[in-house]
Amino acid sequence: MAARETTKPVTHQCPVCKGSGDVPRTVHVGRKRRAVGEQSGFCLNCLGTGEAPADGE
Ligand SMILES: [Zn+2]
Repeated sequence: MAARETTKPVTHQCPVCKGSGDVPRTVHVGRKRRAVGEQSGFCLNCLGTGEAPADGE
């Protein structure tokens, strides 16, 4: 029996957005920066892909 290497693509889920590609952001207004709510924002860690940037290589 020959040992086979399974080559399955390993994608690392982005830890910041949990793979969703966007993150909740608190919206502030005014000089006191009062929080008025949240909106969905573009995840800057993975650039919206939901996958963590490959490191190494
Ligand atoms: Zn992300």
